[in-house]
Amino acid sequence: MIPGNFDYTRPQSLDEAVAALADGGDDAKVIAGGQSLMPLLRLRLAYPELLVDIGGLNELRGVRDEGDSLWIGALTTHYELIRDPLILEHLGLIAQTAGKVADPAVRHRASLGGVLSHADPAGDMPTVMLVLDARMVVRSRDGDREIPAGGFFLDYLTPALEPGEILTGIRVPKPGPGWGFRYEKFQATKQAWAIVAAAALVRRSDGQVAEARVGLTNMGAVPLRARAAEEAATGAEASRGALRAAAEHAADGTSPPSDLNARPDYRQQLARVLTARALAHAAGV
Ligand SMILES: Cc1cc2nc3c(=O)[nH]c(=O)nc-3n(C[C@H](O)[C@H](O)[C@H](O)COP(=O)(O)OP(=O)(O)OC[C@H]3O[C@@H](n4cnc5c(N)ncnc54)[C@H](O)[C@@H]3O)c2cc1C
Repeated sequence: MIPGNFDYTRPQSLDEAVAALADGGDDAKVIAGGQSLMPLLRLRLAYPELLVDIGGLNELRGVRDEGDSLWIGALTTHYELIRDPLILEHLGLIAQTAGKVADPAVRHRASLGGVLSHADPAGDMPTVMLVLDARMVVRSRDGDREIPAGGFFLDYLTPALEPGEILTGIRVPKPGPGWGFRYEKFQATKQAWAIVAAAALVRRSDGQVAEARVGLTNMGAVPLRARAAEEAATGAEASRGALRAAAEHAADGTSPPSDLNARPDYRQQLARVLTARALAHAAGV
């Protein structure tokens, strides 16, 4: 199908982009890599009157070291996340996960800010940002504000962005030494979306799990933390058996969707299996 008519502007600075978006009101939309928005426009599931193309704003690209955290520009692509030296050094979970998103052609265009702003619960990076306790930095005419990942994904395809706000970057705390990580993704084909995925971060100490964090993809309307599994893993022996037992709680309290790929009970079983694998890998056992 052909998209409806819309006006288009490609600002040269963030200030210009913020002004254009504010002037456009509720009928204006940001476009970055276009990988999610273009299909929606073509299907006429989105019909903005104005598209504000932020693709030329180089100030929103790249990764900066801020000491305890890294700042990742919203326009940084999945392709760049796989290779960035700072990401590889401090936040390997992001690089590993980016390598499992879609195919090379999509990864070259798809931006981190785009996948987070789209807030699809099948997206991989939202879950990763949740377990890493990332903070979204957004800009509007009123200035900047930061939103913790835990409060950013409000509902299906609904981020906590107000009209007129642009996600400019993501501030991600460095987990520090001693943390292992793993993203386990189950998909119908290698380049497809996750039917379910689990992200794990584990800090080991003296043969035990000192801290564990688990996130789940496509197990509800928003990315989830598997709190019961985290609690069961924390303090457990760092062994496959103990972590498998903890992962039995991964689906507690979840209401996953039913679709052509999987029923809810199958998704819950996948969550338990993938969490066990992710925890074991992250713990190095
Ligand atoms: C074939 C295919 C396979 C895919 N497979 C996967 C997969 O396996 N895993 C996965 O996670 N994703 C997958 N995706 C989705 C892909 O990751 C997203 O489409 C992409 O990351 C979105 O980024 P974008 O820059 O293209 O955003 P756009 O499409 O330009 O924008 C998406 C939405 O976010 C808004 N937006 C974008 N940037 C900002 C910003 N800075 N501030 C405020 N709002 C903004 C737009 O208004 C729009 O609503 C796939 C996509 C395709 C086409």
